[in-house]
Amino acid sequence: MSRALILCLLALVPSCAPRVLSAPGWQTTLRGTRVSVRLVDAREFGYCSDRLVGCTVPVGRDCLVLLDRQYFLNGTPRQKTLLLAHEVGHCLDGSHLAYSHGGFGDAGKIYGPYYAAPVEGFAEGYARAYLDACGTNLAPLGWGVGEKCPLPDPRQVRPPAPPLPGSLPE
Ligand SMILES: [Zn+2]
Repeated sequence: MSRALILCLLALVPSCAPRVLSAPGWQTTLRGTRVSVRLVDAREFGYCSDRLVGCTVPVGRDCLVLLDRQYFLNGTPRQKTLLLAHEVGHCLDGSHLAYSHGGFGDAGKIYGPYYAAPVEGFAEGYARAYLDACGTNLAPLGWGVGEKCPLPDPRQVRPPAPPLPGSLPE
């Protein structure tokens, strides 16, 4: 689909309402993908269920990430990191992997039932890879101040091995 068409379609959803686009946030370029992050009330997500705390809207090769302001600002460092890096994972799945989800079948279910869908499994796998590589430092994703840290390559995020038979889930 052409980018112009996507933009036109997006204009029809509340995620692209001027109030959302002018909400506080930041813009950054992550592995060549321009990512615009906005902190909004989840009820303004539009494109996604308001029961979620994050929402990613692809705009061609660019990406709009909506985060629930309350959850993000009040979350623990780990919650913040997993949320933001998960949404960035969706962006990079689109821009680098053409939404092939890195070969995740239902492997993400080890993170929880929601992640059994390949699209969610990959995004969560990316978030875990980010946490392993950069810890809870969000400066590389454009939030706060911290050390530089190279972002994980989305092509190297692979499905986690299923738990061994007889082992207890974490
Ligand atoms: Zn997701």
